[in-house]
Amino acid sequence: MSTWHGLIDSDYRRWLPVTDDTPAVSLHEGNTPLIHSGHLSALTGCDVRLKVEGANPTGSFKDRGMTVAVSRAAQAGVEVVVCASTGNTSASAAAYAARAGLGAAVLIPRGAVALGKLAQAVRYGADVVEVAGTFDDCLRIARELAAQHPVALVNSVRNELRLAGQRTVAYEVVDALGDAPDVHCLPVGNGGNITATWDGYRAYAAEGLATRLPRMWGFQAAGAAPLVHGVPVAEPQTAATAIRVGNPATWEGAVAARDDSGGLIDAVTDEQIFDAYRALARHDGVYVEPASAAGVAGLLQQHARGGLAPGARVVITLSGNGLKDPAASLSDGYTPTETSAATADVARALHLAA
Ligand SMILES: *Cc1c(COP(=O)(O)O)cnc(C)c1O
Repeated sequence: MSTWHGLIDSDYRRWLPVTDDTPAVSLHEGNTPLIHSGHLSALTGCDVRLKVEGANPTGSFKDRGMTVAVSRAAQAGVEVVVCASTGNTSASAAAYAARAGLGAAVLIPRGAVALGKLAQAVRYGADVVEVAGTFDDCLRIARELAAQHPVALVNSVRNELRLAGQRTVAYEVVDALGDAPDVHCLPVGNGGNITATWDGYRAYAAEGLATRLPRMWGFQAAGAAPLVHGVPVAEPQTAATAIRVGNPATWEGAVAARDDSGGLIDAVTDEQIFDAYRALARHDGVYVEPASAAGVAGLLQQHARGGLAPGARVVITLSGNGLKDPAASLSDGYTPTETSAATADVARALHLAA
């Protein structure tokens, strides 16, 4: 197998909106693990695979789109990229901007971004502005800034560059499995990723590289489920901050992915999300951030409702790394077991037989 140098310098290059003149701004994103889940397969009677997007360089799938967006920004001679973010877009934009020698300005909703993501943006050197508003406010402001000032917007909203990069996850899944799965589950926030993943499957099928298309099953948090209810949510609520979006920018794309694939977009409670979050770590050894567990929670919900055909081949996008949000783990009933530095005390604390 040839060495992996990131999406733009891979066989997927021909699918990306880059030319010979585009500098490849890359951290070797993509080519993430697709691993079998014995736990979820046994629970559902299906063949369940986990696409571990937290293995990307900044810890989320956002890197797939950001390598393209920032490469093109660098090619265009832009000096500053700007984005609104629930956290991961800002971490990714800041990293790729640093790599390209560009400035990054990131707008985040005050107090609603996981600490690991904020730490990343700060360390990569972004200008971080905490806005007294929601993600949706941040996105409106970022768009206005990009319209009025010489800065490039790198949100996925109408950003074909980001979406083109994010489609590569579907190519990787088909190349690994030999065809598309029956069902692809994923969390839905702003709607970009479900749109891009579906478009990726369709592009591959259109060229005969896949013989079938999956049903797209997207899941929103119950307190932030505008696509489920069909109306924007003014004050979205969920501890899964990456999907705390009240008015998805890629609304039509997400709905089209659902309808054209014969799929669904449904809601799962924070309790279901956190149960799945704990189980993924405990039973599969995969530590994700809370939002990333929404696809797993949704799959189990569908299974419980009898909506999942036995033996189906299922892929779940695990969108981000658990290290992004350690507070979510520790707020969850961790009490330290403390002992002296004597081995006997430690053995007793561990209930080891004498
Ligand atoms: C951005 C993000 C999502 C939501 O993706 P959208 O494209 O906004 O729907 C889900 N999980 C994580 C970890 C994310 O960073």
